[in-house]
Amino acid sequence: MDFMVLSLFPELINAFFQNGMISRGIENNLITGHCINIRDFSTDRHNTVDDRPYGGGSGMVMKPEPLNAAVLCAKSRAPESKVILLTPQGNKFNQEKALQLAGLQQGLILICGRYEGIDERVYSLLVDEEISIGDYVMTGGELGAMVMIDTIARLIPGVLGSEESFRSDSFMDDRLEYAHYTRPEEFEGQKIPDILLSGNHEKIRQWRKKSSLQRTFLKRPDLFEKTVLNAEEKKIVRQWCRELETLARE
Ligand code: SAM
Repeated sequence: MDFMVLSLFPELINAFFQNGMISRGIENNLITGHCINIRDFSTDRHNTVDDRPYGGGSGMVMKPEPLNAAVLCAKSRAPESKVILLTPQGNKFNQEKALQLAGLQQGLILICGRYEGIDERVYSLLVDEEISIGDYVMTGGELGAMVMIDTIARLIPGVLGSEESFRSDSFMDDRLEYAHYTRPEEFEGQKIPDILLSGNHEKIRQWRKKSSLQRTFLKRPDLFEKTVLNAEEKKIVRQWCRELETLARE
């Protein structure tokens, strides 16, 4: 999958492409990552990319011409790519949206705004979808683009090394992932659950399912309400209820 980021701070994005999982994905030809500096498309000698808002008020607005030229350049390099504008006013980005975008055969062109945002006229001409990474306002879209690329890239087969790693991740099937433990067996007086040392893979699978359901119920009741339980999971929940009743009677 091809990720192309349009930004006024390419050094932030390039550092991101050069590290960790993303750089390995690029080295292994599973993804590509490029950054286009919007300022390269300004036309005056001061390299201006922003201007005062019509109607007055505080802050500056990103001028349409350099941004338009930068997007057209990105489109000429990746004509099939979907153009996404990072904005707090967009559709909310979550695991479901990440899965949807990872499944596209297209690449993504991600526009990072700055200042008060971009000139309104650019939206209708160039943008396929507006995406927000959450109900808060950041200074620029770069962190949002990195959040999106990181989340989408790990869903692309091979990027994580093992596809299984994301299948049990939190938010897949509306639940949180089970608890994890590593060595030592005992830490600050706390032991790991015996079952994880048993070598019994079926029992471990069941324990993990129970852990995942319990955590979802306790930490994210909103997700638990949405989750559809199969017969085995209903049995696990009933068993847990019985354990709680016993505890409450003690
Ligand atoms: N004045 C705008 C508003 O209130 O809707 C906010 C502009 S913000 C200060 C500057 C840029 O940061 C935006 O153009 C956008 O690209 C990015 N940004 C800020 N918060 C964001 C969020 N929650 N999700 C995605 N991008 C965001």
